Amino acid sequence: MKKTIIDLSLQFKSGMQKYSSKHPTVKITKTATHKKDKREIRKIIIGSHSGTHVDAPIHFCKDTFTIDKFPAKHFIGKAILLNFVSKKKRSEISLSELKSKLNNTKVEDKILIFRFDWTDRYYGKKNFYTDHPYLSSESCRWMVKNKIRFIGLDSPQPDNPNDKNIMNDGINHKILLSNNILIVEYLTSLKKIKKKNFLFCGAPLNINSSDGSPLRAIGMY
Ligand SMILES: [Zn+2]
Repeated sequence: MKKTIIDLSLQFKSGMQKYSSKHPTVKITKTATHKKDKREIRKIIIGSHSGTHVDAPIHFCKDTFTIDKFPAKHFIGKAILLNFVSKKKRSEISLSELKSKLNNTKVEDKILIFRFDWTDRYYGKKNFYTDHPYLSSESCRWMVKNKIRFIGLDSPQPDNPNDKNIMNDGINHKILLSNNILIVEYLTSLKKIKKKNFLFCGAPLNINSSDGSPLRAIGMY
């Protein structure tokens, strides 16, 4: 049994911050109460990208896999924590920065976790979706070539939020997802992980033909 267990997920709450109007507003209401019904039951409205969640290939790539095609065991594996907390707002992680952080560590089948402390600092604030650091497409192509299992970020997403070129729309999502490298977004509390290597565990709900799902992400070592 691992000694340290850290919850890396946001809590679901009614009205929690979301990306755009296409994403449902999280709403949790009671449909039964102890007073009236002698039990509690809730109706929970969430979107496939609410809170800490994983993107499936179909989210950006037509005619590809949905989240239910990935078995639970895909989401438990050896992870490498990459500390990019010192990255400035709106800055890019270049391939050379990624490689120097990895320092020749073998990445095949590994889960790469990018730490910015972005969710911890800015979730719920105005600039959460506009000012976060992001990955270079070159870094994403390198991760594909080197067969990593998937990535996780404590930010909303891997793309440059200020790239107005329509040709680049979701470019990093597309590079990763078209190669079945899933993207876990809105992780939190990565600062509590004190080791570079840890076990990541966080399975999505098994939702039929979904483009993604919330998950409870946990770090262990
Ligand atoms: Zn997403």
